[in-house]
Amino acid sequence: MDKKKKVNARWIWTLCLFILSVSSLHAQNVNRIDFCGSSTSNDSITLYLKFVDQQGKRINSLDPAKVRDGYLTIRENNTIIPWEKAKFEQVKSGKRIPKGFTFSVLIDLNIPAEGKSQIYDIVKQLIESAPDSSVYISFFGDEVGESSMVTSHNYQSFRDKFMQAAHDKYFCSAVYSKLAEFNSSTGEYENLAQLAEGYNKNPEIARRAAANKGKNLLFVFTDATTNAEPEVDINYGEITEYQRDKSHDVPTVYAFYYTGNGAIDELVEMTLRGITIHEDLDPGRRGDYKSSTDMSSVLRGFQKTIADQMYDYTFSYKSEGRVYNGSTYFTAEWLTQEKGKSTFSIGSPENPWPVYKETTSDTVKKYLMALLITLLTVAFFFLIIKVLIPWIKSKAFAAKYYKKYVPEANVQRRICHYCKQDLQPGQVIVTKCKHYMHIHCWKLNHYKCSEYGQNCNIGIQDHVEFDQLFTKSSLRDCQQTIAGILAGLVSWIIYELLGRGSFFKAMATAIVKTFYKASEQQIGMFDKCVDKVSSFLAIGLLLGFFLSLVFIYNDEYRKKDWKIYLKIFGLSLLSGVIGMLAFAIGACILCALLSVTHATDLPWYCSLPAYLLFSICVSLSLTIKSSVPVKSAMIGGVCSSIIGFLVLYFSRFTSSSMPWMNMLLDFIIYGGGLGASLVTVRMLAEKYFLVIQNGVKAGQRIPIHKWMSATGGGNKVSIGMTGECEIQMNWEKSNKVAKEHAQLFIDQARKLPMIKPLATGVIYNTRAELPVGKPSVLSNGDTFKIGDTTFQYVENE
Ligand SMILES: [Zn+2]
Ligand SMILES: [Zn+2]
Repeated sequence: MDKKKKVNARWIWTLCLFILSVSSLHAQNVNRIDFCGSSTSNDSITLYLKFVDQQGKRINSLDPAKVRDGYLTIRENNTIIPWEKAKFEQVKSGKRIPKGFTFSVLIDLNIPAEGKSQIYDIVKQLIESAPDSSVYISFFGDEVGESSMVTSHNYQSFRDKFMQAAHDKYFCSAVYSKLAEFNSSTGEYENLAQLAEGYNKNPEIARRAAANKGKNLLFVFTDATTNAEPEVDINYGEITEYQRDKSHDVPTVYAFYYTGNGAIDELVEMTLRGITIHEDLDPGRRGDYKSSTDMSSVLRGFQKTIADQMYDYTFSYKSEGRVYNGSTYFTAEWLTQEKGKSTFSIGSPENPWPVYKETTSDTVKKYLMALLITLLTVAFFFLIIKVLIPWIKSKAFAAKYYKKYVPEANVQRRICHYCKQDLQPGQVIVTKCKHYMHIHCWKLNHYKCSEYGQNCNIGIQDHVEFDQLFTKSSLRDCQQTIAGILAGLVSWIIYELLGRGSFFKAMATAIVKTFYKASEQQIGMFDKCVDKVSSFLAIGLLLGFFLSLVFIYNDEYRKKDWKIYLKIFGLSLLSGVIGMLAFAIGACILCALLSVTHATDLPWYCSLPAYLLFSICVSLSLTIKSSVPVKSAMIGGVCSSIIGFLVLYFSRFTSSSMPWMNMLLDFIIYGGGLGASLVTVRMLAEKYFLVIQNGVKAGQRIPIHKWMSATGGGNKVSIGMTGECEIQMNWEKSNKVAKEHAQLFIDQARKLPMIKPLATGVIYNTRAELPVGKPSVLSNGDTFKIGDTTFQYVENE
């Protein structure tokens, strides 16, 4: 070659390069940018992108320098992500085959060394583009070998295996046993196959296959110039019979034949055709057979069909101090024009991302802060229960019953029942009951009728008495609420300490795998779902357990011995499990909703059913073997869970510096709300109590309306020493109490509460002994004594 020609050649090269670069520039005519998913690692977020041109073709030739130089702009929640923080990369190899696929690669050792060397390289491509633990390899020749998992790290060690030679060729044994390996049950002819000594099925293959139906492939590489050893027990017929049986999970078979330069043996071709594309096979079970040099094109084709939703580029950037707790909105602009957008969940309200390593002082600060928030919440509930609600009721009362006195036609004079003076026309009076009073007299009498408690039981007005606000009895009214808030706090602390539910990962994975069907469509969605569901399960267990623990403890009026503690603990554990199951069902609904809506993030409404279901179930579980009425538990549970949910999902303002705050608020608001409603709703709906007057249990209020009702349902409360009694007097030290000593019930005709002694020694109002077997009327405030314990019957005001 002379010098001139050399120069020419260089020119041609330069020209080629120029044309190439022009065409690559031309290809940067981006028409659409698809977001294929997102994922997070330590402190950076990765977005998976696909660029599409006007013809709908994928663009793989973007110039990264140009892309950074003003072509591509990505915004997160409308804020531009600066390129200094970001990295843009083309995905050349990498793991592009989605999780869930399982490949069994079967190699014929009869293939000449040169061919096996080529196949070694081809299989390498498969391993490099498939996720770890999805490719299994085995060899056959003189016998059928076991399947081993291969990864790009250990593949090298299989090279020697490839190079082993064989004399015989047990093709049918090999194919049959590899097909059967996708099932955990043993194939009919499996034990007749020419298996290597000590051969075991790889159980991972059947396990994966069962979890991912339709994503299983068997690649068979065989030498096509020599026919197989005639096999007596297993032949072509047994293989296709196995494949056609609908009860078997069989992989799609792709056979690749190696011929060197020789012709393909007719029988081999027939066999390969039969096991891959036979018309008796279900269309879904049909594969293909091809020359082994075509493996890479098959692989490409395969990658293309499953990889349409896959990506060509990644865009990663550091989060730098921001905390994410849910839906994040992304847009992509190409040369200032918006070409694509999507919303992804990054972190979640239950489990914000990223989790920074906390120093000890951070942790101390966090828990102190949490304690302060809890105290503020207690104060908030206290104000609502003791100030706001009574104030509103008082105003409503005033609007309805404070009236100017207008003399009636047939009445000569009316007097105020308090000061006994005449009511003058135009004076403001209180008309709640028939005992009219001057407004100032009403107030002087502490906002109630002068006859109240004797001849009147309705003449009373709610009002806020500030000097009575901070007394013991006032605090006792909030006892359930405070208990609920504390239970929420304890649940939250354990939730934080135990990694926000990470210990439920395995269970969560199983749920998501079963119920989330769109898992392959969005990169990262599966993992996000698993995180969410593990948080759900932890919340259900912890909140269910601790709420139940405090409420049942407070509800238990008996002296607490170990049996009762055991009962409280057992019931609480039951509530915890119920709470967890409720959230598990909620998680299934979440997965189903996500599968149906094809959401790319986890929208709030997908989580709502789980929270509602949880609170209904836990509220109901609180009524098991306790005096908590079903209605009040239900109303309270649902209301407080909705408020807690709103706080959790819609108050993002706290998230930047204290990402754990929303979850804490959700826990304590739910606990406090449930506690408050258990008290208030009960007080509105029911009214009979026994208050113990003396001894160790003095001051204890036993809500007997649970068992005694004028309107139907149960109507008997028995008091005595045995566990069959509704009120078991196990605190009583004297031996004067009978197994069943007295009964309380409502006289249905007169609508009056009655007491019927069943043994001697029931002392009525400290004076008279009541006759055995004869019912007597109980009035508000009456006392009766059984053994050494005095009970007072109280109708709630
Ligand atoms: Zn008066
Ligand atoms: Zn009155």
